[in-house]
Amino acid sequence: MPNAIQLLPTHVANQIAAGEVVQRPSSIVKELLENAIDAAATNIQLVVKESGKTLVQVIDNGIGMSPVDAELCFERHATSKISSAQDLFSLTTKGFRGEALASIAAIAHVELKTRRDQDELGTLLRIEGSKISSKDLISVSKGTSIAVKNLFYNIPARRNFLKSNNVELRHVIEEFYRTALIHTELHFLMYHNGKELFNLPASNFRQRIVNIFGNKTNTRLVPVSEHTEVISVDGFVGKPEYARKSRGEQFFFVNKRFIKSPYLHHAVCAAFDGLLPPKAFPSYYLNLTVNPNTIDINIHPTKTEIKFEDEHTIYAVLRAAIKHSLGQFSIAPTLDFDRDKNLDTPYQYNPKSVRMPSIDTDPNFNPFASTASTTKNISKKLSASDWEGLYVGLDSKGNDNKNKYSSLRLESDPISEALFDEEQVSNKYKTFQIQNKYIVNTIKSGMVIIHQNRAHQRILYEDFLKKITLKKGGSQKLLFTVDLDFNKAEINTLKSIQEQLEHSGFVFDNFAKEKLTVSALPVGVESDNVQAIFRQIIDDIDSDLPDTHFSTSDLLAKSFANSLSINSGKTLNSKEQEFLVNSLFACKEPMLSPFNKKVYITMDLDEIDNKFN
Ligand code: ADP
Ligand code: MG
Repeated sequence: MPNAIQLLPTHVANQIAAGEVVQRPSSIVKELLENAIDAAATNIQLVVKESGKTLVQVIDNGIGMSPVDAELCFERHATSKISSAQDLFSLTTKGFRGEALASIAAIAHVELKTRRDQDELGTLLRIEGSKISSKDLISVSKGTSIAVKNLFYNIPARRNFLKSNNVELRHVIEEFYRTALIHTELHFLMYHNGKELFNLPASNFRQRIVNIFGNKTNTRLVPVSEHTEVISVDGFVGKPEYARKSRGEQFFFVNKRFIKSPYLHHAVCAAFDGLLPPKAFPSYYLNLTVNPNTIDINIHPTKTEIKFEDEHTIYAVLRAAIKHSLGQFSIAPTLDFDRDKNLDTPYQYNPKSVRMPSIDTDPNFNPFASTASTTKNISKKLSASDWEGLYVGLDSKGNDNKNKYSSLRLESDPISEALFDEEQVSNKYKTFQIQNKYIVNTIKSGMVIIHQNRAHQRILYEDFLKKITLKKGGSQKLLFTVDLDFNKAEINTLKSIQEQLEHSGFVFDNFAKEKLTVSALPVGVESDNVQAIFRQIIDDIDSDLPDTHFSTSDLLAKSFANSLSINSGKTLNSKEQEFLVNSLFACKEPMLSPFNKKVYITMDLDEIDNKFN
């Protein structure tokens, strides 16, 4: 039998290795930015087209490469940064594996222009499928420009695996943050599809954070600074009251390299213990400086995880440093006149006067409506809509409309038709709530138990989806416009779905760099909620919930459903319960929430009988 083992051809080996380094356009952004920094550039421009799918280009004014190096740099394990294994333990550069450019050249078209200060002419190289396709001398300014085009052109499966432009752009911007945030002494520019997204002149750390995340950030930062023999901690944490329910801005750098560390994240959260409302995340921008020979960066190809020699000490120092800063901040309030005094003390220690518990109920409750006028509006709309008849008998007018609705009922939802027995339901309003979480109702065959939060999600989801797709979202005009603050990247995300947002009922007056002005809202949305809703939408798009196979409209409707639905734990009066039940069974798919969770269960009389055996 012949031998079975063969060496893989180089281009195949390169493609496989590339998979480790290059997952998506943002991976290229990371590698190219790092190379520019290692080349001692002071001005770095990132140019991206179509979220990096067609172009990622980094132009720097660094040391450049000789014509020979320009060719060599695309070879695997070609690096100028280390020459022995020993060097691995005293790394001062971002790169050292000599793999990035070789990997990138295996899966994209690459164009390199470079010139050193001492050379008269520079080099222009074009590379396709790891092979140099052309080489010329050109006159070019000092430094290096590497353009990576048509990512994964030769691996369609990987290309198809890329997410929507929105999602990929978020990753690219995130990667840009990770580099630009900490290299404050360098001037960074970023362009997307010909538009300038960021222009960050050299500055201090605080200024850089503000330039990236918006002016509002400035007053929200608490400085952290601690220096011990093992580690120095420098940077900022966000004030507790600005912690977000969703992921905030969380950045750890170790010796100016962005890293991910659940362990250190825990240390920060531990320092915030007792200061944050439940399920909120603090923001932080922290640089830890340690002796390079006490860490190992070599454990992950993208170098975002590192091992510390003395993890426990680092944890303890970090936690103590942040606790100390937060403590100082709360005893020395800043001169901020519209500051809420309650927020100066930990939430759990807020001195609150004792109040009798009370249940807030509103007999005219309508989860879609917020003001008297809209309540009127909505109930008028609903009384004429299909769902009412589906729950025949509950409403006194039910019998009159029975025939009219019975055909609709069959069409839209056979399940709900069979579920309710007219005689039973005429026993009207026989719903009740258990644990402020479930609504129980009798039905023909026994009983139905409805999950109130999921039911409301289903109702809102279908309602918004209809509005968005029919482009008929009703709007309530606001007396006063509402200004919302988002950073540039977030505004960008919202802009990309502006049309759908408008279809759902939002009216925008202004879409500025860091500000969004809203002059009308979808019926049922309150102005107090808008910031939170948009934040949810941004997060959902960011994490591509549930994945790209779903349309943006679907994703938006889900976000609305998620942020506007009544939660478990909310007491509902009988009218509210009735509304929920009625609307739920008027839905196309009352069984499942938009997130594919069971909305209700039924229990037959037999099942109940059995329980008594
Ligand atoms: P590494 O950064 O790990 O050394 P890369 O594949 O990223 O590996 O780069 C290979 C080599 O190419 C680098 O070591 C460096 O000498 C050279 N190089 C890459 N980008 C630049 C640049 N922007 N300016 C100057 N030299 C560069
Ligand atoms: Mg590199």
